[in-house]
Amino acid sequence: MKEWEDKIRKVVPYVPGEQPNKKHMIKLNTNENPYPPAPKVKTVIKEMDDTKFRLYPDPTANALVKAIAEQYQLEENQVFVGVGSDDVLAMAFLTFFNSDKPILFPDITYSFYDVWADMLRIPYQTQPLDENFQICFMDYEKENGGVIFPNPNAPTGILVNLDFIEEILKQNQDVIVIVDEAYIDFGGISALPLLKKYENLLIVQTFSKSRSLAGIRIGYAMGNPALIQAMQDVKYSFNSYTMNLPSIQIGVAAVQDTSYFEKTREKIIATREWTKVKLKELGFSFADSMTNFIFVTHKSYAAKDIFEYLKTRDIYVRYFSSNPRIQNYLRISIGTDQEMDCLIAVLKEYLK
Ligand code: PMP
Repeated sequence: MKEWEDKIRKVVPYVPGEQPNKKHMIKLNTNENPYPPAPKVKTVIKEMDDTKFRLYPDPTANALVKAIAEQYQLEENQVFVGVGSDDVLAMAFLTFFNSDKPILFPDITYSFYDVWADMLRIPYQTQPLDENFQICFMDYEKENGGVIFPNPNAPTGILVNLDFIEEILKQNQDVIVIVDEAYIDFGGISALPLLKKYENLLIVQTFSKSRSLAGIRIGYAMGNPALIQAMQDVKYSFNSYTMNLPSIQIGVAAVQDTSYFEKTREKIIATREWTKVKLKELGFSFADSMTNFIFVTHKSYAAKDIFEYLKTRDIYVRYFSSNPRIQNYLRISIGTDQEMDCLIAVLKEYLK
């Protein structure tokens, strides 16, 4: 090995779901929204003039911060925006997890958490979900350098209630507790009301799922002004212009169209409930998902075989091979009614 090779930072990167690009595929593998973004998004794009490309964007992304603050009845200094919630979460890891004590998160959860911890050299300890994939709050009572978990959890889809979150907050008042609410809009109740009571709580949400803007990359954190200021200081020490100008304007248009947002998320919830019934009829079992995906297993057929078969029919779902506890599970995103109908028909053929 050459000496310089020794000095290179070595990391094992996060592996996102495949992004195949076939004309007639049914893509249910990365939890995107099957519906277009709010109609005004297209108008904003059509009407975008040259200055949006020629000039640097507002580094504070104030128009978007303001729109989000208004939507959630917060002050502007309680909102931080970034390039997808991945960017916001990475920034939060960098800003808040600086202890020698390990940060805590579930053993089955969003698989980016351990990647950020490794990359930023943050010690961590995963806490096993119980046999029903539930988070055990006693596991979060030990000394730690911070806590993070998604609610609902991914890829299990399981939601915890606000009492549960408050219990974790009560036990962890000396560290930052991050609740990743990427999927909260599909039937969960946000921890937002707890912000008034717990100044160490940071809530992270995204425009990628319930607002149909995964390609535009907008995420945001909500928390007390001291936390938001600390994240901003870190961001400005790293890259002032993370949010591009078109994204800021698109984000404003999306967040302001509440009725479209309500309509599409209700459609997805209805399709999810229909899909649950059909999957059960086919012998699948799963926890009661409150997200835009269902995490399923089948007692007679291997998840990997189903995954491979679906691919031959141009239906893409997500299979996680790396964690032995979930090697016999598939995560199926909720598409349109027609797409889910087609999935069920193909599964029916396969399971015959
Ligand atoms: N958190 C969770 C739990 C997720 O599943 C995802 C989606 N991969 C994200 C955060 C990041 O989403 P985005 O960066 O698109 O906002």
